This record gives sequence, structure tokens and C-alpha cells, in this order.
Amino acid sequence: MRTITDIKEMQNYSKEQKRNRKIIAFVPTMGNLHAGHISLVKTAKRKCDILVVSLFVNPTQFGAGEDFDSYPRIFKEDIIKLEREGVDIIFYPSEKEMYENSKTSVYVDEYSSILCGISRPSHFRGVTTVVAKLFNIVKPDIVLFGEKDAQQAFIIRKMVKDLNFDITIETREIIRESNGLAMSSRNSYLTDIQRKQASHIYKSLIGAKDLIRNGERDIENIKNYICKIIKDSGIEKIEYIEIVDDNNFNLIDSINGSVRILIAIYVGKTRLIDNIKVDV
Ligand code: AMP
Repeated sequence: MRTITDIKEMQNYSKEQKRNRKIIAFVPTMGNLHAGHISLVKTAKRKCDILVVSLFVNPTQFGAGEDFDSYPRIFKEDIIKLEREGVDIIFYPSEKEMYENSKTSVYVDEYSSILCGISRPSHFRGVTTVVAKLFNIVKPDIVLFGEKDAQQAFIIRKMVKDLNFDITIETREIIRESNGLAMSSRNSYLTDIQRKQASHIYKSLIGAKDLIRNGERDIENIKNYICKIIKDSGIEKIEYIEIVDDNNFNLIDSINGSVRILIAIYVGKTRLIDNIKVDV
């Protein structure tokens, strides 16, 4: 396994691999790796000749007052995990390498300002900009993202389509802790009591899925059901509970076809997101 920090070196490496007709798979991450990241890495490994994982805490996707400075950075532990999975290249650029003098951004209109984009207005611009840059640097054939960040995955697919990147995007299911809490680098901020509270997010999503499967079609009833379970757990701040058409991410007034329920809440000061797909 080799660590590359220089953009030109990464590009030259990938060009050479492509000349040799190697398939490059790529998993972008911000590090502090957990089983959710590793499941993407394992899937990617099966689909390629060369596997690249990036570790980059991207400053442009954090808003003012968010946790950019305190975001856990544990490079040494991360590379041990990646070596074990047979990763070929870790792309580990500095902020300066990625953004010195940069004036250009990529923005996917409409979808970047709904759901998480309401409270985090600059977040998805940061995400799509860094992901577009990483695509041009790593030159992957296939890229793996987690459904944990379902809105992000949708927006990236849209960017890839709109900007004609010749890249296949695949998503993988959410990996959860034994109590149902979706794994997240931010779970390390939670106390034991908060972890217990946070486990009710998934319980509410599973319950809502059952409600829909049993015939409930009223969006407000479903949202109220979720809201009650979350509030009863002691969680006070719900940012949003929304239901979208899973094919186009439009908010819906009635359920027919595949939908996705998405939630953002705060447990204490920690913002957590989760979602579930429901096929009817
Ligand atoms: P991050 O390091 O948070 O930027 O995440 C890197 C990738 O891992 C993204 O594609 C995430 O959607 C994915 N990911 C994060 N948490 C999970 C999880 N619990 N299960 C599956 N994928 C995840």
C-alpha cells in the first residue's frame, strides 16, 4: 500500500494504470474509519484491479461553527485498517494541496438546498466541489458511496450525469451498531446515555416502514409517529423528518412507489442523520 499526498503524482499513477487497462475503484472518506467505510472498501475491492481510498477532512463542506476543527483525525489507525483490506493507494492530500488559490466550485442546483441543505447551506457545494476534484485526480472507473448520506449520494449521481463524468456510482446499505444506530464518525461525540437515545432514530424508522407496509399513506401521520418515538426517547431537537420519492428526491404528499424517509436530529450538540427506503 502506498500513500500519495501530491495531486500530480496521483494523476500520473492513475494514468499509468489506465494505460495498462486496469479498473480503478475509489472510496472517498474523511477518515476516522468505521465498519460503514470498511464495507464500502470491501465491496470496491471486489470490483477493481486498483483500489484507491482518500482520507481528507474537507474544510469547504463544514459551515461556520460546525465541527471541522474537532473532527477526529486518526490517520495512523486508518491506514492500518486500510492495509488489512488490501487497499492499493491512500490519497491523503493537505488542504493547501487541494485548495490553494482555488476559485471554482461545483453546485447542483435545487437538490443542494433541501433537507440537510436548509440548515447547512454551503455543505453540498463543498461536497460536490471536492468530489469533482477527487474524480479528476483519482480518475476512477467506479466509486462507492454509502446510503447513510442518501441526499449526498443522490446529488453526486446528478452531478455525474449533468457534467458527464464517465464514472459508475454505486451505493451500499447503511451499516449499524448493534442497537441500530447508524455508524458515523460523529458517534464518538456521544455519551452512553445519548447513544441509547440515538438508537430510537432507527426504531422510529423501522416502525414507520411497518406502518406504511400495513397501509398507512398519510404523510403527516407517519411523521407524527416518528416524531413521538424520538421525543419520547428524550431527544429534544428534531431538525427535520421528511419523506421523498426515492427516484427523484422530491418531497411527496402521498405515498405510491419507492419512498425514502430521512431524519436529521440533534442529540445534545451532536447532529445525526439517518434514513430508510420503503418500497410499496
Ligand atoms: P465520510 O467519511 O463521513 O465522508 O463518509 C465516507 C463514505 O462512507 C460516504 O460515502 C458515507 O456515506 C459512507 N458511510 C458513512 N457512514 C456509513 C455507514 N454507517 N454505513 C455505510 N456507509 C457509510
